[in-house]
Amino acid sequence: MSTTSAVHTPVAPITTPIVTAQVTTVALLLGTAIAALLVYYFVGVDEGAMSIFGKSMVLHELFHDGRHFLGFPCH
Ligand SMILES: [Zn+2]
Repeated sequence: MSTTSAVHTPVAPITTPIVTAQVTTVALLLGTAIAALLVYYFVGVDEGAMSIFGKSMVLHELFHDGRHFLGFPCH
């Protein structure tokens, strides 16, 4: 009866970089930057300026609690 113990050596995970086309990467970065700026504007800056067009404070009221939660100055 032979007793062979298997030695388990840790195996490093194989990492493969994500390769995308440069145009796709630039489009993703620009889209993300534009979306982030829009979110920043509506949460942190908009004080009802968009209400000029619709004469309502819907967007301001929609983001109002988020503005207070994130510590942006409001009123
Ligand atoms: Zn407020």
